[in-house]
Parts: sequence; structure tokens; C-alpha cells
Amino acid sequence: MVARHDQTTDPELLAALLQARRGTAFFARKLNELSDTELDGDSLLPGWTRRHITAHIGYNARAIARLIEWAATGVESPMYASTDVRDHEIDFGATLSPIALRHLFDHSAVHLNVEWRDLPEDAWHHKVRTIQGREVPATETVWMRSREVWMHAVDLDNGAAFHDIPAPVLERLLKDITGAWHTRGTDKDLVVRVTDRDLTFGDATSDSPTVVSGPLAAVVEWAAGRGNSGVTAAGPGAAATTGTVPPAPKWI
Ligand code: ZN
Repeated sequence: MVARHDQTTDPELLAALLQARRGTAFFARKLNELSDTELDGDSLLPGWTRRHITAHIGYNARAIARLIEWAATGVESPMYASTDVRDHEIDFGATLSPIALRHLFDHSAVHLNVEWRDLPEDAWHHKVRTIQGREVPATETVWMRSREVWMHAVDLDNGAAFHDIPAPVLERLLKDITGAWHTRGTDKDLVVRVTDRDLTFGDATSDSPTVVSGPLAAVVEWAAGRGNSGVTAAGPGAAATTGTVPPAPKWI
């Protein structure tokens, strides 16, 4: 008998799973609002149509499901054979018929959900490897999926916005993004201030930083490279008279 509820009883993990499932439902809603012809339209990501976004989200669910199978069985099964294979798969997926694309999204999401649901409590701590080569416990896959579905729903560019994304997801995104800058050393003399949360990230050691500030949703939108409406800049990096907001360092 297959259980109809999650095997894990960890409250933190269950909350994370709920957030990922809500994000998937949010993406599904935005996707379903698009007509088949509208799928051909541009997304917010340069060079990608909405078809590419949808294919990417579908294949991402399959890739994460492979990690859960790995955690369950101990038999290594990577997300993708390589980044080239992943990119190629997305390009191919973008050429599918609208109905096939929609099925890809629906079926892969259901499959991943079943894999998560049936993963035994202790297997959630088994280590798997991400496409970036990071060794993480299987629990991390829930966040990996969450951030994809919430953010790429905005990238579909048919009405979803960063302020639709729950605050805990936005906060974690900002931690991820500023953490990536820090690792690469691209955050020198840059401070990011979230005005409605009392949060500060970036180069705390700088004597004369450029400070980019705004409400959480606007700051994450800027940091993710999706635009700069709603944020302001001050300091050496901002053009003195106009307060022009500099582009955020590259994230991914
Ligand atoms: Zn993505």
C-alpha cells in the first residue's frame, strides 16, 4: 500500500513541502491563464520564451525526482548528465506542442510530489549532489524546487510579481543570492538594505558602500536581475544627481 500522506513528520520539512506545493500551484495557475498562442511570447529571461520556462520547470521536477530516487535507493542518479544536456533538453522541450508542454509540467510535478511523499523519514537525511556539485541532504531539494516554481512564475510575465511570493521564500532567496555574490567576491562595497524587515546583507566591512534599499519584494527583484523599480541607491555606485540604481552582480 502506498501512503496518501507524507512519510516525514518533521514539522519544519512539512512546512517547506507546503511552500513548494503552493509555489507549484501558483505556477500552474499562471501557466493555465496563458493561451496556447501566448506560450510563444517572451518571458522575462533573455532569449527564453514562456515555452522555455515551462519546459525548464517540467524537466527540473524530473531532475529533482531523480535526486529523491537516489536518496531512497542509495543508487546514484544525478539531476542531469551535464549542463549541456540540461540546456539541450530545455531547447527541445520548448518545441513541444502546447498540450505536450502542459502535460510535461503537470505529470512531472505530480511525480515529484509522489517521490517526496513516499520518501521515508530517515532517507530525507541521505546526501545527494546538485548540478552545481554541492553535496546536500535530500531535504534541500524542497527549497531547490520552491525557488524555481515561485520565481519562474514571475518570469512567465503574465501578471505574477515578486510581492506575490511569500516573505519567507523571498528572504531565503535574498540570502542565497547575496551568499553567491559573497562567495564570488562580487559584493565589494555593496550593501543591500531591506527597509520593511530590518535586514541588511552585503559588504559590511566597506567604508563607503553603495547602498541599495527598498521593500523586500523590490530588493529581491533587483538582486535577482529582474528590474529595479521600487529600489533606490545611494553612495558612490549611484549616479550622484539621479540616484541611478546600479545593476545587481550576476547571480547564477
Ligand atoms: Zn531555473
